[in-house]
Amino acid sequence: MALIVHKYGGTSMGSTERIRNVAKRVAKWARAGHQMVVVPSAMSGETNRLLGLAKELSPKQTSSALLRELDMIAATGEQVSVGLLAIALQAEGMEAISYTGWQVPVQTDSAYTKARIQSIDDARVRADLEAGRVVIITGFQGIDSDGHITTLGRGGSDTSAVAVAAAMKAHECLIYTDVDGVYTTDPRIVAEARRLSTISFEEMLEMASLGSKVLQIRSVEFAGKYRVPLRVLSSFTPWDIDIEEEASSGTLITFEEDEKMEQAVVSGIAFNRDEAKITVMGVPDKPGIAYQILGAVAEANIDVDVIIQNVSHDGKTDFSFTVHRNDYQRTIDLLQNQVAPSTGATQVLGDTKICKVSIVGIGMRSHAGVASKMFRALSDEGINIQMITTSEIKTSVVIDEKYMELAVRALHRAFELDQEPVAA
Ligand code: ADP
Ligand code: ASP
Ligand code: MG
Repeated sequence: MALIVHKYGGTSMGSTERIRNVAKRVAKWARAGHQMVVVPSAMSGETNRLLGLAKELSPKQTSSALLRELDMIAATGEQVSVGLLAIALQAEGMEAISYTGWQVPVQTDSAYTKARIQSIDDARVRADLEAGRVVIITGFQGIDSDGHITTLGRGGSDTSAVAVAAAMKAHECLIYTDVDGVYTTDPRIVAEARRLSTISFEEMLEMASLGSKVLQIRSVEFAGKYRVPLRVLSSFTPWDIDIEEEASSGTLITFEEDEKMEQAVVSGIAFNRDEAKITVMGVPDKPGIAYQILGAVAEANIDVDVIIQNVSHDGKTDFSFTVHRNDYQRTIDLLQNQVAPSTGATQVLGDTKICKVSIVGIGMRSHAGVASKMFRALSDEGINIQMITTSEIKTSVVIDEKYMELAVRALHRAFELDQEPVAA
């Protein structure tokens, strides 16, 4: 008998019919002798609907007081889900009980809308499991030390599930979603995308951080830190398929490099449209200038991603970087009102119509020429590269947003990701 955590995403919980299917699947696992903890998301569209209502009443405000209320509202989506799933399980003849984040409790910091889990007290959940119940815990939400409800950022139910699995030392955490695993790239963009039977933890971390929303980045971080066995699989298979077959389907995130069966140089392509580019023109090219610009941005709690400084002309240079689109206006205002006057910058320009496309693979460590193959594939399509950033196992480019799908498809082809890699 093992303790297993199942996580079901919004689409998997999208209707009472689907919830009934989830209940039947969970009941099958429980009847096979496992202790089951289930972490569902809100029904699909519900979080957007709830946040949309709030936006109607306060389109622009971003005060901490407002963010607190956003969490209060958004957390209700998951509360409905857990209750419905408990009822569906009871209707299947199972003993089941649901808890919100604050009932467990799932303790977080106070960063509303992007809180981090600090600890999980599993005593209550364990007692229920010992009593033979299936325990259902809300995804996405927690409680801070002052008792305020918090949420973990969009897609945060993945993190809730992995954190619960880590806290309870679960045998495995299974992330059930609307695709049957992790693909070489988003299968909704590239029809030839191929499902990976395994992906290394490091690659998954990069893919998630570079935009593949199949797993929230923090869930992958948690899995790495606590070595939680993690698998991504489909909730759309018939609920009564053989449990062994189900348990080995999808994509396993592996921690040992030699466990990795597939030896591709590039394993996947990620992309995101969430960033905006900002250029500060005509700043004096002297020591401390990057600090003057980026220090001010960091002090305003704005995260910066790709950064480039151009060669200087006549002692002046241009400085470009990207920020999350949600922070775009705030960054522009800050630069225009504070940084430009103090540095003597001639102009602050912004572009929200960009995207970042990245190739990821641990094989890049030991192979030269991977980045240049990427640049060539983009150049063959006439796509101009605006910024480049590399690390050991990834290369990212910033390009015009309108070429995103073209770039992803071209790279998928160039690196032959539709084909099984030849075993090394
Ligand atoms: P859930 O509601 O189950 O959490 P999400 O919508 O958050 O589901 O994540 C699943 C989606 O992630 C898929 O439908 C797919 O479009 C997208 N996706 C992006 N990149 C990938 C990838 N590399 N492999 C699989 N799915 C991906
Ligand atoms: N319901 C939340 C969201 O839509 C959390 C999740 O689905 O993981 O972002
Ligand atoms: Mg998700």
